[in-house]
Amino acid sequence: ISEVALILGDQLNASHSWFKAVNTKRLFVLMEIRQETDYVTHHIQKVIGFFAAMRQFAQALASAGHQVFYFTLDAKRNQQDITGNLTALSTVLPQLEKFSIQQPDEYRLDKQLQDFSAAQSIAVEWFDTEHFLCQRSVLDDWFGQQKQVVMETFYRRMRKSTGYLMRGGKPLGGKWNYDKENRNKLPKEQTPPAPLCFGHDVSELAAMLARQQVKTIGTVDAKNYLWPINRAESRQLLDYFIQYLLPNFGRFQDAMHTDFWALYHARISFSLNTKMLSPREVVERALSYWQQHQDVIDRAQIEGFIRQIIGWREFIRAIYWQRMPTYAEFNFFDNSNTLPDFYWTGATQMACLSHTVKQSLEFAYAHHIQRLMVTGNFALLLGVNPTTVDSWYLGIYNDAIEWVELPNTRGMSQFADGGILATKPYISSGSYINKMSNYCQSCAYQVDKKVGERACPFNSLYWNFIDQHFNKLKTNPRMALMTKQWEQRSESEKKSLRTQAKFYIENVNKL
Ligand code: FAD
Ligand code: SF4
Repeated sequence: ISEVALILGDQLNASHSWFKAVNTKRLFVLMEIRQETDYVTHHIQKVIGFFAAMRQFAQALASAGHQVFYFTLDAKRNQQDITGNLTALSTVLPQLEKFSIQQPDEYRLDKQLQDFSAAQSIAVEWFDTEHFLCQRSVLDDWFGQQKQVVMETFYRRMRKSTGYLMRGGKPLGGKWNYDKENRNKLPKEQTPPAPLCFGHDVSELAAMLARQQVKTIGTVDAKNYLWPINRAESRQLLDYFIQYLLPNFGRFQDAMHTDFWALYHARISFSLNTKMLSPREVVERALSYWQQHQDVIDRAQIEGFIRQIIGWREFIRAIYWQRMPTYAEFNFFDNSNTLPDFYWTGATQMACLSHTVKQSLEFAYAHHIQRLMVTGNFALLLGVNPTTVDSWYLGIYNDAIEWVELPNTRGMSQFADGGILATKPYISSGSYINKMSNYCQSCAYQVDKKVGERACPFNSLYWNFIDQHFNKLKTNPRMALMTKQWEQRSESEKKSLRTQAKFYIENVNKL
């Protein structure tokens, strides 16, 4: 063996050029390590998903004739961190000439491997992951020193550079964005198709995690694990989405419902983020199906979906790499409160939070609006420290890897970056949740009540937030209407909203 090629848990890209030809002098190494299980408390389904997918990937490589070395978490020789294991391998491979590394997507791992590389006498060669549609440096390359880049501008450049949904340099259909047509509540008579689940037996992995005392959150049905753990299943999930869910994807993208946890969402983020699926194939398969089925999938649905993949996902990554490591420190509103206990149990009488948290604990999944406008919104209105909020999001969702979790949480949801990513804070009173869901119908609180007994907590907390951060918000044109409305309220109204909010903040664990 003259080369050790490291494959991280989120680098399961079977189409990578590394795997085009068999080279018996190259050893591929994958490792289950405490470094990764313990840097935050993860959902048990997330840890199982990563390890199960890594094991399948290693097996597939070995079956194709590649040399593979796999550290299980309980292996005696496992040093439990990446560099420890690489160093240990170098001592038992006398012919070793180089380490090959694919560029990690997380700053933390990038730094660790850069430091390892700098301290090595053995050569280290770096490779692209061959996954993303654009490079880490795209924001600087495209927009130079511009202070703020809005996603829409980035997205249009991506449409032009990829040619997706374009004709003759113009957006197909004449419009770039159909978002306004995409914001409906789920009507009573509408029943989304059941989510496609895979039903794996992962009890062996679950037992190993228990034996090794890995601390996790959430639950798992170990005989019936629902997430895809290989490329074939990931493709199946994608195809299921394209055929049955895409026709209504955009229309109900922001909807929330007590009976349907997945609605019309693709649930492909785990497969994408582990690189079992590539963004290019996701977009091209969706486009090709849409081209043949334009009678059932209108333009607003396909455009809305493509925007998530080539727009939001790539934009988030570009922001992360442009702004790290300082991005992880931003706290624009100087928030310092802790998260309520019910974020770990769902035990609250607020139906929206109870449903969203319980669903997250059961499936390691919540869709975008649940993350943004329920748990994220509430944490921001409460004034929770963004680092605490980050840890919660980084742990609980199976798709949570820092490069995508951090800008979404700290930036988009908590506005802790002061507006680098979003043009205004995503906050709302109960009326937005009521507009987009049926949660309020079964809630112990009354959505149309601002103060007094059983008043929806989102209402007073919302106005209290505007009050507390008035000076920071009043200069934001997108908040002007709300700050003006607050100014126009009578002193007695303001006082009772402040008192109500204070009571809720002080008693948040009893809500
Ligand atoms: P769909 O709604 O079906 O969308 C399709 C795909 O579009 C997703 O799989 C995803 O790859 C992409 N996408 C859509 N929106 C975004 C976005 N804002 N950022 C990046 N990709 C996007 N996504 C993660 O992948 N990992 C995270 O850790 C994560 N943390 C989040 C935290 C917060 C507070 C918020 C508000 C959003 C977060 N997101 C995260 C973005 C988004 O919520 C998830 O990508 C989405 O819910 C995944 O489910 P899906 O595959 O069914 O998505
Ligand atoms: Fe949530 Fe308020 Fe509606 Fe209850 S009434 S579900 S707390 S928004």
